[in-house]
Amino acid sequence: MQTTNPHAVLLASPGMGHFIPVVELGKRLATHHGFDVTIFVVAADASITKSPLFKPPQTPNPLNLVLLPPVDISALVDSTTSVVTQLMIMMREALSLLRAAISAMKSRPTALIVDLFGTEALATAEEFDMLKYVFITSTARFLAVTVHFPYIDEETEHKHRVMKRPLDIPGCRSIRYEDTLDRFLDPTNRIMNSSFTRVGMEISNADGILVNTWQDLEPLTLLALENEKFLGRVVKGPVYPVGPLVRPAGQSSKSEVMDWLDMQPMESVIYVSFGSGGTLSVKQTSELAWGLELSQHRFIWVVRPPVDNDVSANFFNVTNSHDGTPSYLPDGFYTRIRNRGMVVPMWAPQTEILAHQSIGGFFSHCGWNSALESMVNGVPMVAWPLYAEQQMNAAMLVEELELAVRPKIRPNTGVIRREEVAEMVRRVMELKGNEMRDKAKELQRSANQVLMQGGSSYNSLSRVSQECEVKLHHLSAMALGA
Ligand code: UDP
Repeated sequence: MQTTNPHAVLLASPGMGHFIPVVELGKRLATHHGFDVTIFVVAADASITKSPLFKPPQTPNPLNLVLLPPVDISALVDSTTSVVTQLMIMMREALSLLRAAISAMKSRPTALIVDLFGTEALATAEEFDMLKYVFITSTARFLAVTVHFPYIDEETEHKHRVMKRPLDIPGCRSIRYEDTLDRFLDPTNRIMNSSFTRVGMEISNADGILVNTWQDLEPLTLLALENEKFLGRVVKGPVYPVGPLVRPAGQSSKSEVMDWLDMQPMESVIYVSFGSGGTLSVKQTSELAWGLELSQHRFIWVVRPPVDNDVSANFFNVTNSHDGTPSYLPDGFYTRIRNRGMVVPMWAPQTEILAHQSIGGFFSHCGWNSALESMVNGVPMVAWPLYAEQQMNAAMLVEELELAVRPKIRPNTGVIRREEVAEMVRRVMELKGNEMRDKAKELQRSANQVLMQGGSSYNSLSRVSQECEVKLHHLSAMALGA
């Protein structure tokens, strides 16, 4: 059966940082642009289906959320396999499942939209005569580095990686060594580097690239990606800035943390979180705790057990003091911060917290979803990047967008002392806070406008929709002629 709507199939790779924006893209396509949508989700196990985030959203057109059967990859990895490599293996193993699912579809899909880790599936789109798009859940700047990566010669790489010179990206601001991608810091990982080359080529060959950014946020890079003199030379299809696509607040039920926030003064609380995977060392966790205490500001901290402890699921029940403070936080921490701070183990309703009027700052690992969530709520930041492209994001938030402060050293190269933690918190909440808050509010206004009908990101998705309509008509005409 063929409906009159274009049907987009989206593929989300493992990790909340991919799943959340892919679902938001699906929602916008179904709600504002007349698509039927099916989202296939790849995950390590079926536990994601228990998350409140896995509920299929209510949309005017059908939106199906389907977990592809998780594949056991334990025979293909060992304890030394990096998370990114594991992710790539999982995505490769899921390819045949995706193919089978598409081939069994009653409503013939018009387009396949994959994220960064799903680009191998674009061959399946070709096989089924679908349009093929990539959705970059990060910045245009990250996209620029990725599509340029296959063309970096050995000498240039050596200058950047070994001699620590800036890396030039055609038509874009160059990337300082200190802000570079993790992958440039680990030249030994040949498999990953060759995979990244392949991904860069696959993205460049897509029919279009959707990016979770917006025109006014990254004008120079977006121009370079379109311009034939620069990256437009290697990128085949158009680049569509479609963001900021972030999960809206208001979907979580009431919780202790929200009740606590309700009682705090306006813009008085800093929210501290390192995303879905960020983990600190024991020493750094302790210094951060002392620093938050020293700053004397109110805070909510989403705490994960430090990485160099032998953790288990019950770790939070292991305490070393009478007041319930976990053993890796300073003794008596809970008592001293009572009424002023709140510690939330593992996971918090982030979008609801950032949208709350009591929040005045966000101490963040600079994952791009977190950065966007801060911007759409007009919240200035302490940028504390840990891995992947987060250094690049931090540089942009601090130097170009001027809504964040960052520590003097890379948080993943040494321990940042409590005094610096406290100073950064004070700068965001007091000293430089107002200037940065003004910038953040400016971005908030811009973010709201671009998503409204007639706004630049809205129009980008309308163009994608028009391409899919044309494809749909073409497919229907072929079916009639057959
Ligand atoms: N998130 C959340 N609660 C948490 C931690 C993360 O809701 O305690 C959400 C956050 O709002 C964001 C996503 O998970 O939408 C994390 O994505 P991001 O790109 O910031 O970081 P990643 O986890 O991919 O490193």
